[in-house]
Order: sequence, then structure tokens, then C-alpha cells
Amino acid sequence: MAKKLARKAPKKAASSKKAPKTKKYVYFFGNGKADGDRTMKDTLGGKGSGLAEMTNAGLPVPPGFTISTDACMLYYKEGRKVPAVVEREMEANLAKLEKAAGAKLGDAANPLLVSVRSGAKFSMPGMMDTILNLGMNDKTVEGLKARTNNGRFAVDSYRRFIQMFGAVVLEIPKDAFEHELEAVKKSKGAHSDTDLDEAALREVVTRYKAVVKSKGKRDFPQDPLEQLRGARDAVFRSWNNARAIEYRRIYEIPDSIGTAVNVQMMVFGNTGDRSATGVGFTRNPATGAKEFYGEFLINAQGEDVVSGVRTPQPITELEKVLPQAYRQLRQITTRLERHYKDIQDFEFTIQDERLFMLQTRNGKRTGYAAVVIATDLVSEKLITPKEAVLQVDPESVSQLLAPVFDPKAWKALPVATKGLPASPGAASGQAVFTADDAVEWTRQGKSVILVRKETVPDDIHGMFVAQGILTATGGMTSHAAVVGRQMGKPSIVGAGALEISESGRKFSVGGQTIKEGDFVSFDGLTGEVKLGQVATKPSEILQVVAGEMKAKDSDVYSRFEKLLSWADKYRRLGIRANADQPDQAETAYAFGARGIGLCRTEHMFFGEGRIPIVQRMILADNEADRRKALNELLPLQRGDFYGVFKAMHGNPVTIRTIDPPLHEFLPKREDLMVEIAKMEATGKTGKDLDEKHKLLRRVEQLHEFNPMLGHRGVRLGITYPEITEMQTRAIIEAACQLAKEGIKVVPEIMIPLVGHVKELRDQKAVVERVAAEVMKEQGVKVKYLVGTMIEVPRGAVTADEIAAEAQFFSFGTNDLTQLTFGFSRDDIGKFLGAYQDRKILDKDPFATIDTVGVGSLVMEGVRKGRKTRPDLKVGICGEHGGDPSSIHFFERAGLDYVSASPYRIPVARLAAAQAALQVKVGD
Ligand code: PEP
Ligand code: MG
Repeated sequence: MAKKLARKAPKKAASSKKAPKTKKYVYFFGNGKADGDRTMKDTLGGKGSGLAEMTNAGLPVPPGFTISTDACMLYYKEGRKVPAVVEREMEANLAKLEKAAGAKLGDAANPLLVSVRSGAKFSMPGMMDTILNLGMNDKTVEGLKARTNNGRFAVDSYRRFIQMFGAVVLEIPKDAFEHELEAVKKSKGAHSDTDLDEAALREVVTRYKAVVKSKGKRDFPQDPLEQLRGARDAVFRSWNNARAIEYRRIYEIPDSIGTAVNVQMMVFGNTGDRSATGVGFTRNPATGAKEFYGEFLINAQGEDVVSGVRTPQPITELEKVLPQAYRQLRQITTRLERHYKDIQDFEFTIQDERLFMLQTRNGKRTGYAAVVIATDLVSEKLITPKEAVLQVDPESVSQLLAPVFDPKAWKALPVATKGLPASPGAASGQAVFTADDAVEWTRQGKSVILVRKETVPDDIHGMFVAQGILTATGGMTSHAAVVGRQMGKPSIVGAGALEISESGRKFSVGGQTIKEGDFVSFDGLTGEVKLGQVATKPSEILQVVAGEMKAKDSDVYSRFEKLLSWADKYRRLGIRANADQPDQAETAYAFGARGIGLCRTEHMFFGEGRIPIVQRMILADNEADRRKALNELLPLQRGDFYGVFKAMHGNPVTIRTIDPPLHEFLPKREDLMVEIAKMEATGKTGKDLDEKHKLLRRVEQLHEFNPMLGHRGVRLGITYPEITEMQTRAIIEAACQLAKEGIKVVPEIMIPLVGHVKELRDQKAVVERVAAEVMKEQGVKVKYLVGTMIEVPRGAVTADEIAAEAQFFSFGTNDLTQLTFGFSRDDIGKFLGAYQDRKILDKDPFATIDTVGVGSLVMEGVRKGRKTRPDLKVGICGEHGGDPSSIHFFERAGLDYVSASPYRIPVARLAAAQAALQVKVGD
């Protein structure tokens, strides 16, 4: 089969050379041949391209056709109308499908039934609409009955179709149908749907039609072509339903790509006990273990498995009931995994013992599983280390750093119940029972566990903020499991012993009742649930990094390290850390940072016992007093620098001179006024009160209307050169001391907020004078550089002038974003949501670089800087340094390194490797 699978896309028709090629909107698949293939995800969506590829490979795929994503975008462009050209192509492909199926849509004697499903380029589980059994009407239901000899099945298919079509296409509330179904069940004394016989179901159909008439203001459409058009348009519409939009926002999927629609011959897993439907994975998507994994339901339709309403059986049981189909399924899925070189997530249906494959795609997995699978696939020689590096989403490695329970504390609590371990990780928090509550409680600063009978796509906002997700029903591929895993959120599903009352906001288990706000904890790797709060502790990887566990004792650490060491071979960008303390620097080094890109010296001023000295420096009204305070700070800063240099083992360390407005180190004006008022009211006088008044006066003097645009950065060094002097002295003295100890150091002294070359020239002169003095005193020579942050737009625009003085640049993309947009970095939260809702901005520009605006200043800064000084070292130290898509941009911009916070270093290493493999400098 490998050969067959590798078959190229069908050659374009020879005539295309002569006539100008008209755009194709509908792609057929069936009878072992498809118009598309796996490379056409953009056009056919993930599902459509998978169906095409499987068809080409000769797998048992029911025939059908895919209406392309281009047609979807055209639908929106034309004001939610499908143009005639698409309509014509659809009808031509329908005729082809009828031929392949040997049945006709609407044919009373031999009816074709189809499913109509969404399928975007990126999987969006459950977010868009699906319609099954399309083609059912008053005539075909009798035809189906005659052909299958199963009246109950035929009528049940019809009632399901009316319900789905009514809800999705005609937008009638689902409850209206549920209400009628319940009424019939009640009148017949039936407990479940399966207790209803054909006659009862016919009554349901009659009632459903009445619902359509009264609520939908029309008769239920009997014309199958009208049904098909309606279903197709509803799927296109569902691209823009609220939950799909929210999902795209969370996963940063562009709104502009649209969904394809797959129309496919129905096969039935619900024709009796020799039929089944199921889903599965070729490996365990939660742990990555190499085991055949999935679940199925006998006598059911696909939606029954994924909705989580019935808890399915594990797939291994299928071997016992339908052994031949099971063996064939194993064979096919193993071959699919070898072909796609990745874990496959598949859907299948068995109709009267005959197996049909409905879908295959690369499986979603937890971050943990992603690393396990990629390293295993390399060991199995299915992929190369380079392919492994490209396969793992960089965010996955940060999931591996998530906390685990402290084993002692965890063991101390009894197990309340066990569910299916859907997504690993330790979760502990207060129980909430609705997604809205999860969001509200989190907003109040609480950690919550979202407890639900089952989750539905509308719960996504609550799932996103919760520490963990716990459900009572559903299997490993239910909505909660799939979405939880994808979010890297600890999740347990199908914990059947939980008796949940969502409206009562409580659940009980084993005689105990847990109310909203009570603590629940669970381990998503084992499925154990406990009642109470359990402290968490660092992941194994952090334990290894902290020296509390041996690397060889941790399987996950060795895989993590292996993958990142492969990544290091492919990346061009250097990786540095933003770190201000020796312990942070050590952690960053252990994670693979080779240098510090930003040491914010002012953070050191907040160290124990330092604030009073800093305040004395600020309060001084003459230079002599200021110098006195600075002299006290000198040994403390020297000690800090010594520690940070040492932790970096000879790699470069960029130290930035003081940056924030001085009032940040002083008490708030309002607080001081209250204190003074209290002292005066209680009759206090004397030195203490005088001091407070003095402090208040200075705070008032330092008050600024726009502190971020005020007396900060290089402006402080220019007005108080003694601060730059002290900091330079501390840096160079620490470097000399280390040099004397035989330890190499390369300090890079960085001046912040420079917008004019003369600012830098001024400060550089101070640095060079003091550095020369110190080296003379110490009798040691150390190499050091003087450079600047580029974070003011004027600095980027005049980078050619600035580079004449600067030996290196580091882009401060936080301030550069703030000053380019004019958005306050501290206040953007007030309006970012509205900007995203109105599609003015896709992403938060403080998290992911705005390549068009801020990015062009970066490009310009690099180009002009290197024009003046070709060997100019250029890095970036804003928050964007740890963001994978921004890292792709920095690769293109040709920077030398990115600098990220210590815990983002692994993500940055992997993202930098992917960037080097996927984009080119200068693109
Ligand atoms: C920046 O502005 O990008 C930067 C790194 O500096 P800070 O965040 O300290 O202003
Ligand atoms: Mg800044």
C-alpha cells in the first residue's frame, strides 16, 4: 500500500494548457480515486484531504465529494450566497456520487443518504455543524425500510435527520424536539430511546414535523437537493458561530481560511448487533505510549461516541465481538501511521461486519505525549531527528514543566473515585459547575476545577481558565477529553461514580457531598480523584534542573533533553535569558540559555534591606548625599553581578543600567497623606513626622503625568550620572574579581530608552571613564561592550547613527510596541477584547509581535545598524523573545539571539530550530 499511498495527485488535464483554467470548487473521492490528496489541506480542509488520500490508497472509504474552503470564502464574499458555478459543480459531483454508490438521492426504491460535515484546515472539534442521514423524506424512509428489512432503523434515521436538520439548518431550539421525544417516551412508558418501536418513532416523526411547521414556519423540506443546499449553507454559516470564533481566537486560527464541506455516502453503524461505530488513536494520546487506543459502541451512530452521552467500550473489546473487522482495522491504521509518520486519530464504522474508514488525521496529543511520541518515532526509525523537531509544538515542552503533586501529600488522601485519565497533570482547586462560574471565579483570583456531567463546545471558555476538567460521562475521545488534552489541561472523564447536580451546584461520591467552592484534586495521568486540596510540586524536569533528581532516573527528562539537543543542531538564533538573580540565571543555564540578554538592575534594588538605601538616594537633595547612598548600594550590586556572571559560565551577560521612573521606589502619595493625617490626628510631632513630610514633598516633586514617557531610562543616567557611575563600577569590579579567579566574563553594558545618538554618547563616556578607572585600580583588563536598547521608535529610525556608538543593539519590543501603537502596556487590557472582537487586532501585540508595524521598525533598525557597523550584535529582550511565532519573525529579521524568561527557554530553543528550518533570514 505504501506505494499506492505515495501516488501523486492526479495529473492536471492536458487541455488546461490551452484553455485558461477555471477554478475548481468541488473535489470528488470514490472508487479508489480522488481529485485531491493530502497536500491540499488549504483547499479541502483536514478531513477532506484525509478522505482523498485514503481513497487514493485503496482504503474502504465511502464515496463523496468535498466543497472547498474557497467556496466557503466565496459564500461570505457574495453576502452568504453560494454562486451558480459552485452549485453546478456540486450537482455534477452528486451525479458522480450517485453512480459510485449505486443509489440515488431521493430515490424511493433505492435511496442514497449522505452526511454533510464541516472540515477546516485545522481541526476544531465539535465547533461547527454536521448533518447526518440527509436524503430522508416521507418516501425514502419506506425505501430504506424495504431495503434493510428494518422499519425501526429506517424511521429512527428519519427522526434523527429531522431533529438535526431542524436544529442546525432551520435553527429551531433543540429543546423543542427533545420535548416531543420525551412526551412520546412517557406515553409509551419507555425509559430510553431504544425502547421505542417503529410505530412510536413514526409518532415522533409526525410530532417533529409539527415542530418544524410551528417553529420553523414551513413544512419539512422533502426535496433532497433542497435539503443538501440547506445543510451545506448551514455548515458554511457555522464557521462564524460564537463558539467557533472563540475557538479560533484561543488557538490563533485565522478567520479568513474558511471551512470545507464534505458530503459523503452514509454508512450505518446502527443497523443491528453486527454493526458498530468508533474512534481511536494509533498510540495513547495522553501519555504517548505505543498502544492501540480507542473506543466503540455496538449499534450506534458516530455522534453517540463523541457526544459523551453513552460511555463506550474500549477498542480491544471489538476483537471479541467483530474479530475480522478488528483485524482489518489494526492493519489499516498501522499502515496509516507509517504513511503519515505520526500518530493517527481515526473514525470508523462497521456496517453489517463490513469496515469503512471515515477519517484519519494526525492525532491531537498532550505536550507530554508529543515529546514521548516524537522521540519514540525516531527510535523506531519512522522519522528523523529533524522531523521530530518539526513535529512537536513548542508550547508542548512548556506543558512538561507543569507541576505535579507532592507524592506524600497526595498519598495521604484516600481515592474518592477513578475516571478515565484523559489528559495528564496535577490539578487542585475549588469545584465549580458551569463554564461561566469557572471564568468568574478565576477572575476573582481563585483556582477552579470545572466539574460537569459532560462538556459541550459552549463550555470552552470555562475549560480554558480551569485548572482541570472533571466529567462523569464520556470516553477518552469525548469532547472534554479531546479539548482538555489539546489545551494541555489535566482532565479526567467518565468518572461514573460522581452524581452531579449541575443546577444544585454539587456532586456526591461515596456518601460524601462536595458543594461549589469545596476543594477537589485529581491526577490526570492515573485518573484518581480525591476530595480536598493537595499541594503541587515542580515537574520532574524542574526537579532534575534543580538537582533534586538524577537525570537518568527521569524518563521524561531524558526525552525532553534529547529533543532539545536535536533542536540545538538546527537553530541559528542564540538563546539567552532575561534574569536578574543568580538563581534565575542558573535555572536558565540549566534549561539551555547561553547568555543573559537582559538583567534589569532595578529589580535588584528590591532585594532585602535595599529599598531604604534606594530611597535615601532618591530623596537626597544634593549630589554628595546621593553619592553616599550609592556607595552603600555599590557592594550589594557588585555581589549581584558577581553571582549572575558566575552562573553564566563565561557566556555574555547584558546588564542594563537603571530604567524605571524613580517614584516606583517610593511609597504612594495617597498612602503617605493618610499616614501623615493619622500621625497628626494622634498628636504625633517631631522627627518621624518631619521625615514623612519630606518624603511626601519629594514624592510630589517626582510626580509625573506620563511616567512611562517621563524621567526614566537613559534620561536618569543623564541627569544623575553618579548612578551610571556606580553601576559601571559594580559591573567592572565584579568582572575584575572573577577575572582574577580565572573565570571568563563578558559584560555587555546596556543603556535603555535611547532615541538619540547623543544620549548614548553621553552615557558611553561615563561608562568608559569609570571602567578605565576600575581596571587601573584593580590592575586587571576585562573585555566589555557598550550598547543600547532599541525601544523608542526614533532609536530604530536613526539606528545608523546610533550604531556608530553602540557595539550591540537589543530590541526592547515591550516599549517599542507601546510607543509604536501608542498603547499603554499596562492599560491595553481595557480595550484589547473590543479590538479583537471587532477584528481590528488578531492577537495581543504585547504577546506576539506586530510584524507589519513594530516589526518593520525592527527590520529597519537591523538594516541601518548593520550598515554602519556590519558586525553589530543584535538581539531582542522584550516578552516576544519567548513567543514561537515572534521567534519566526526574528529569524527572518536576522537577529543574533532571542532572550526569554527562564521557563520559556525550552520553548524558545524548539521554536528557534523550527524557524531556522522553515523560514530564511531576509524573507
Ligand atoms: C522592553 O521594553 O522590551 C524591555 C525589555 O524593557 P522593559 O520591559 O524592562 O521596559
Ligand atoms: Mg523597556
